[in-house]
Amino acid sequence: MAKIETPRPIRGTQDMIGDSADRFAHVVETFERVRKLYGFKRIEVPVFEATAVFSRSLGETTDVVSKEMYSFEDRGGDSLTLRPEFTAGIARAYITEGWQQYAPLKVATHGPLFRYERPQKGRYRQFHQIDAEIIGAAEPLADAELLIFADQLLKELGISEGVTLTLNTLGDYQSREEWRSALVAYFEGHRDQLSDDSKDRLHRNPLRILDSKDPRDQAIVAEAPDIDAYLTEEAQAFFEKVTDGLKAAGVAWTRNARLVRGLDYYRHTAFEFVTDRLGAQGTVLGGGRYDGLIETLGGPSTPAVGWAAGIERLGMLLDNVQSGTLDVVIAVEDDRYLSDAMKLAALLRQAGLSADLVATGSPRKRYDKATKIDAQVLLSLRDKDGAVAVREHSARNSEKLDGVKAILAGAGYAE
Ligand code: ATP
Ligand code: MG
Repeated sequence: MAKIETPRPIRGTQDMIGDSADRFAHVVETFERVRKLYGFKRIEVPVFEATAVFSRSLGETTDVVSKEMYSFEDRGGDSLTLRPEFTAGIARAYITEGWQQYAPLKVATHGPLFRYERPQKGRYRQFHQIDAEIIGAAEPLADAELLIFADQLLKELGISEGVTLTLNTLGDYQSREEWRSALVAYFEGHRDQLSDDSKDRLHRNPLRILDSKDPRDQAIVAEAPDIDAYLTEEAQAFFEKVTDGLKAAGVAWTRNARLVRGLDYYRHTAFEFVTDRLGAQGTVLGGGRYDGLIETLGGPSTPAVGWAAGIERLGMLLDNVQSGTLDVVIAVEDDRYLSDAMKLAALLRQAGLSADLVATGSPRKRYDKATKIDAQVLLSLRDKDGAVAVREHSARNSEKLDGVKAILAGAGYAE
């Protein structure tokens, strides 16, 4: 017979099992728990959208839109794009689904995103993010709340060590425009020394030069004017209220006056939680205020702020993830005990204990197999005076064992 060739996985995608899957699940579970503490509603949005949702809101000059989008024509001839980020799709839903009625809206979601990047460690073509947004809130309180949420999440994940919250303000429209002009004038003066990419950005998106990773640009960027001299009084007061909120909640931060988010619609607060533990990919969580976005998509003028973090990158920072440990494993060494074992397992699970059976393969080998399973309590079944009794072989956790014994006794099983 001709050998059937298995299709290869797509470059930059991931199949996860074991440690990587456990890390992933731990990040998501922690996020789900913490977002509820802050009253964020869970939402779901589509994995694909009309291409315009992203090209308009991210700006044609950003790397994501110009180089990284997975766009294709569907059978009806429409241009669709696999989402490269969450915010634009959520903003689209806010407009088209009438979510204005819930404003201010605190929402959270997580799932896969797609970018056509050069695959390497920690950088994939399908990766995943957790995401939190507050839409319809103009007050600096919203920015502070999101930052405090992010800080608690990182602490609960146990990765806040070596992670720093870096914060900047991009001011309001007026501040940002004036700063932008000052930057253009400054960079014009150093045009010859800029990288080609940055020459190109000079008039289209000069703020992004501050973001450049090119060493030639970085020397010039170091001397570029800060926004501080251009902040309006309102913008300055806004920034102070955000930092007051952080102080009240005990969240540490440092100013990074060079921090700009790559996307065009950001206003006021911009932030990144950064670490030196991941080499070149140092941002673990980033976001900011995007008051201009919803209008850009044809909706009403709506203030909003949000953040996102890569799940894989957070997972890489976790210490060893303990997972998969069962409460109870039951070795079924004789098939006559199978239905009792199933009944027992059902009782334990209904009582909230995790349980598994070893009941396949050679009966003589099942006990050995069961000892190799990571479980707190190992049980087997046997005959005792004509009835089925339960034997406890090992228990790493005596409290758990007491609970198990109570359930067994309640069901009429002798030891
Ligand atoms: P970078 O500078 O690393 O390319 P970015 O500015 O493109 O990051 P954002 O668009 O702000 O990243 O996305 C936020 C987070 O999503 C990143 O900090 C990272 O954790 C994660 N992320 C982005 N792109 C990828 C990718 N290709 N693979 C894995 N995670 C990613
Ligand atoms: Mg990128």
